[in-house]
Amino acid sequence: MSDILIEHQCPQCGAPAILKETDRLFACEFCRVKSYLLQKEFFRYMLPNSAPKNKDLLFFPYWRFKGMIFSCVEDGIKHRFIDFSHQAVESSYFPISVGLRSQALKLNFVTPESKGYFLKPTQPFNNVMNIFNHRYNISLPNPVFHQSHIGETLSLIYSPFYANDKIFDAILNKPVSPVLPDGFDATLLQGGRPHGRINFIPTLCPNCGWDLEGRRDALVLNCKNCNSVWRPTANGFKKLKFAILPAKEENIIYFPFWRIKADVTGITLSSYADLVRIANIPKAIKKKWEDVEFRFWALGFKVRPQVFLRLARSITLAQPQEKLVRELPDTRLHPVTLPIEEAIESLTLNLASFMKPQKDLFPKLRDIRIKPKSYLLVYMPFIEQHHELIHPEFHLGINKNQLELASNL
Ligand SMILES: [Zn+2]
Ligand SMILES: [Zn+2]
Repeated sequence: MSDILIEHQCPQCGAPAILKETDRLFACEFCRVKSYLLQKEFFRYMLPNSAPKNKDLLFFPYWRFKGMIFSCVEDGIKHRFIDFSHQAVESSYFPISVGLRSQALKLNFVTPESKGYFLKPTQPFNNVMNIFNHRYNISLPNPVFHQSHIGETLSLIYSPFYANDKIFDAILNKPVSPVLPDGFDATLLQGGRPHGRINFIPTLCPNCGWDLEGRRDALVLNCKNCNSVWRPTANGFKKLKFAILPAKEENIIYFPFWRIKADVTGITLSSYADLVRIANIPKAIKKKWEDVEFRFWALGFKVRPQVFLRLARSITLAQPQEKLVRELPDTRLHPVTLPIEEAIESLTLNLASFMKPQKDLFPKLRDIRIKPKSYLLVYMPFIEQHHELIHPEFHLGINKNQLELASNL
């Protein structure tokens, strides 16, 4: 399905705009007003229709999911990028998925004013995910010791239909079902007026009133005036604890990482010495390493699955101990596009990526629990080179092309 485009009107001046699915910060080209899009749980979109005027429209919901899936199996960690849609109401009268429709057409946000009968999703998303996992896992070697979904986008897409003697797709005006039984009435299924409304909040710093900065897909906004960082929540912007690792080099871009302190049970991992043992690093363990606290490092931005895993592993193994400062740099900041919730979900995988030997340790993954205690957003400096961004000391490298592609993930 890939890129979804959404037709939108500026909440301030009404000017039309086209948004990408990942867009959060909306800057109107006409009135210049900036606002941030907020939606409880997930975004709800609807496909446009070209039904004859006299038809009563029926909107059928589909869960739409996009993200990475990682599976720890006997011979390592398998990954796959997934992108699918599936019925959010079980029914044999309607197509099983949105199919390719959402690629060719521009969607709209569902609002309480949207006209038509909107079926209520009665199939929970978790059921749909289980169906998918079950099918996908058949292709994997058995057993699967751990599996996680990361960087996911979950939304609900309503597709328009109407009923005659059959169910008709109101985009193509073509039947999609066999002849309906007598007395069939889709409005007997749960549904009604749509709910949910997108909130637009002004992007002003709650602390000093300055304009917050961020890329259109940023999940965290920065105030360079009062040196603060903000996370949008259902109740407005909340201040976020952050730090940067200062750099002396030129040509720097800072990338966001989540440094997470967590309680690990099922395996001993609380100090740097424990890390050296679990990762089987060929170093003689120094006594003082037993007192150096271990922390997970997770990515705060989206990249392809293989890069995601490699970066998280390298930086966690490096355990940066440099002095951090609490001041936003004047150079470029790469936006946070992976929220803390997703970073937390990646911790077991992060651990799996460096444990050695995997053959002996993977079976333990089932009993390992990682409970996050606190976190900090840390911006790490990367030197920009021709094709790559690198952090030489921690052996981190990010290919620029891949980063470019990641804006669609
Ligand atoms: Zn406007
Ligand atoms: Zn401010």
